Amino acid sequence: MKNYIINNHNEIRIIFFIFFLLFFVLLEKLYPKKNNINIISIRYINNFILFFLNTILIKFLLPLMVIIFSIYTENSNFGLFNILNINIFISLIISLILFDLTIYLQHYLFHKITIFWKFHRVHHADTDLDVSTGLRFHPVEILISMFIKLIFISIIGPPMIAVLIFEIILNTSSMFNHSNINIPDRIDFFIRKLIITPNMHRIHHSNKSKNQNKNFGFNLSIWDNIFRTYKFYDNNKLDKLTIGVREFKSKNQLWVHRILVQPFK
Ligand SMILES: [Zn+2]
Repeated sequence: MKNYIINNHNEIRIIFFIFFLLFFVLLEKLYPKKNNINIISIRYINNFILFFLNTILIKFLLPLMVIIFSIYTENSNFGLFNILNINIFISLIISLILFDLTIYLQHYLFHKITIFWKFHRVHHADTDLDVSTGLRFHPVEILISMFIKLIFISIIGPPMIAVLIFEIILNTSSMFNHSNINIPDRIDFFIRKLIITPNMHRIHHSNKSKNQNKNFGFNLSIWDNIFRTYKFYDNNKLDKLTIGVREFKSKNQLWVHRILVQPFK
């Protein structure tokens, strides 16, 4: 079983990715929050081109992926959980929770440190929100994030399966919380008790900095509650928000070659 996962972890991730991508795109079509979002648009196509460029970059430039690295730490008894030899189920659950906290803190730093923000701003410069926004990140942000994950793995030593599950969860939650799915307030109320909803994350993508500094969570909503960065608007108020950043609001900024140089402007 473990060897099967080690040999096929890329295929497993791709299958989950394609399944959830199609699932969320279908929900966006059936229950759109905003009706004017078009799949055949410059914005949508360029977001996907950027995503495929990133995928190629990581595949070829960074063979030391997080999952491979976690197999290495597991085999060489490196990292806290491997040294303490904790039960696999307990270390799996704790690893997933700590991983999510790490991503919350990473997101916080991407907003607070100027040089990081310039790369993360590329993601915020999207003028609408849908699944394609959840895949739109500058390659430098992906590399910084990869580096932070490698540090996390070397300190904590999570089981390989936890890293694989977390990568799938992170990818799926990013597509979900950016999606253009209309979730009624009364249903959203229950979902956001546990996980970040598109409505919660929409506030974070408003062009006002007081809103951008709220709702940093990507998956679990507890971190925003604990660190007092939680904010919520109902659907009426959400519809009045302007999405994007003030610096890059023109339509020609949506092309991939312009997106890539935005941090240097
Ligand atoms: Zn952000």
